Formats: sequence, C-alpha cells, structure tokens
Amino acid sequence: MASACGVLGDGSKPVKVHHLIKAPENTPESVSFRESWDASKPVTVYKTPENLPDGTPCTAATVILRSKGCAWWWKSGCTFCGYFNDVRDDVSAEDMFSQWEFAKKNTNQFEDCGMVKVYTSGTFFEDRENPPEWQDLVLRETAQMGLHLVVEAQAQMCTPEKISWVAERHPGCTVAIGLEAYDDRVLRFHVNKGFTTKQWHSAVQMLRDNNLRVKTYLLFKPPFMSEGDALVHTTSWLTKVAPYSDEVSVNPMNIQKNTIVDRLFRNKEYRPPWLWSLVEMILRSHEHLGDDSCRIIVHPTAGGKIRGAHNCGECDSEVVAAIERYSVSGDTEEFSHLECSCKSHWRAEIENDNSFPMPLGFGTFRRGNPTDIVRAP
Ligand code: SF4
Ligand SMILES: [Zn+2]
Repeated sequence: MASACGVLGDGSKPVKVHHLIKAPENTPESVSFRESWDASKPVTVYKTPENLPDGTPCTAATVILRSKGCAWWWKSGCTFCGYFNDVRDDVSAEDMFSQWEFAKKNTNQFEDCGMVKVYTSGTFFEDRENPPEWQDLVLRETAQMGLHLVVEAQAQMCTPEKISWVAERHPGCTVAIGLEAYDDRVLRFHVNKGFTTKQWHSAVQMLRDNNLRVKTYLLFKPPFMSEGDALVHTTSWLTKVAPYSDEVSVNPMNIQKNTIVDRLFRNKEYRPPWLWSLVEMILRSHEHLGDDSCRIIVHPTAGGKIRGAHNCGECDSEVVAAIERYSVSGDTEEFSHLECSCKSHWRAEIENDNSFPMPLGFGTFRRGNPTDIVRAP
C-alpha cells in the first residue's frame, strides 16, 4: 500500500469534481462580468440554414436569451459548460418579455423562417428559471406563426404534467436534451451531468407519449478521457441513442471560459478532439445506422481553432467543411478526398490510446503532473 501511495500521490483525499466546478463562478470578476450585460436584450439572435422535421430545407432563427441560467448550475454544474458567463441572477419576467420582443423585431417577426430555436442556457420550461407566463407566450406565439420550435431541457426537469402542458401549447415541437454520454459513469465522473441514463429514457418516453420530437446532444471527448476512448465510446453511444431520437447532434468539445475543461486546457492537460476523430466516428457509426430515420448532425463549434476540434492547422478548414456538409447530406462521400500528413500522427495517437492502459491518453497536450494524470478517474 505504501508503494501504491508513492505512485498515486501523498495519500491526501482526491477532490470531487463537484467541488471544483463552482470556484470560478463565484469570483467577484465573474459576478461583475455577468452583471455588466444588458438584461433587456438577448445574448444573440441569428439565422442559419436548417432542415424541417420532414427534411425540407428552411431558414432557422436562433434566439439565445439572457436568462437566470440553469437550476443544475445553481447547485453544481457540468464540467464543460460556460453558459453561466452569459446569465444574470437578477433577470426579471419583464426582461424576458422584452428580450423576446427584441428577437421578433430584429428578425421582422421571424420573416422567411420555418423554424425557431429558443435557448435559455438551461431548461426552457423550468419555472424557477423562466417565468411560466413567458414560456406560455413563446409556445403559443411560435405555434400561431407556424414555426417549428426547438427548446432545450435537462432530463430530470421533464415531468408528465409539464410535458403535456408544453405539447398543448405547441404540438409537435422538438425538445433537445443534453445527454452528453450514454454511460452513467461518464455522466457522473467526467461530465457531472446531474441526471442518469435511466432518467433520460424516462424523459424520452414522456416526449414520445405527447408526440413531441426528441433531439439528443452527445459530447465528443469529455474531460479525463483519451482521444482513443472518446472515439470508441462516442461511436457506441451514437448507435445506441439513435433509435430513441429523431436527431442526434454530436458536439465536439470546445473550451468555454472558466470551466473545469478550461482549467485543464490551460494546464496543458486537455486537447480538444481531432477533426479526424469526428470523421472516423461518422464513418464507423454510419454503417450501423443504415436507414435515415434519425438525422446525425456534427457541428464543430470553433472547428479548426485551438479551443475547438482541430487538426494540424493546414487541413482544418477543408475537414470542417466536409463535416458540415455531411450534417446536411448524410453522405459519407464528403470525406473521400480528404488527406493530410497529420492523419498518421492522429492515427498513432488513437492506436496508442487503445493499446496501452494510460487513462488520459498519449495526446501531445498531455503534459501535466504525472501523479495527477495517474490519479484521474
Ligand atoms: S445542464 Fe446544460 S446549462 Fe446546465 S450546467 Fe449542464 S450543460 Fe450547462
Ligand atoms: Zn492536417
């Protein structure tokens, strides 16, 4: 045991992820930064090309509101989530109505849009986060305007009463749940997600019972996981959650400010995923998914940048563009012409990660304290 302690540190108790998450959130700098925002205007409003549930191309408006944030964050929070940077504790119901009016005015009442995504950096229909009268207005107005609505939720916030309340006001809308990983240990020790796969299944069933659409987010390469493990696990999660989902969106990790992942990254203990890994995950899972009843979307946020999924710097824009095209076409031919000398570097990393018992992998950014690396979950 003495020798094990020698290898695994000085015998002090490891700190739980849960206790590390809140630290940067509570600094005076963080609080004053958040309180500098104008609470009467949304964080952002923009339009992108999208597909309606039946596959018809359309324009979607995305409205990101400056809300009170996520109830899970108030207690703890996910290791990668930097949404708290955009929220304010003192946002009032009046502010929320004013932000919604701003979004409508800014887009000329969602002119030319077939879809609207209303994101609140938490659960749209959680009453402690967002006033119920505001939820009611958004659900009814978007239904009256004939827009397909997408909102986000945590699985444990879905109750039979609330889901049927939502379905009455906007039948057939999409509820996106950030499952992140289809593995309870990863949810607990890598993501600190706050719910389990069982709770996710129960939420999916409630949505189905009310004829709402299910969108599932998965996270590619949570912290404390090697590149090789991320590839193997996310490919398997994707094929397992697809049969329960109308759409699966795989989000490659991007480093958001003041998060646990940001601290690891700045300490050179975490590298965001390789774009080659995303291509490989798509190729491997595409064979299993076969039919097109579940759409697979991969949008590398900050793709090609050092804080987003990236390769060597030379081939990044071409690989990102091919991944974006695949999300629309669903055609793996998009990847057939891609080549770069960095691919062999990536392949060696994956092979090493999958061959040797090195918990955090062989990536070149894995240069932290060796004791901490061995002790990590
Ligand atoms: S549940 Fe969503 S909004 Fe809340 S901390 Fe996790 S990722 Fe962020
Ligand atoms: Zn390259």
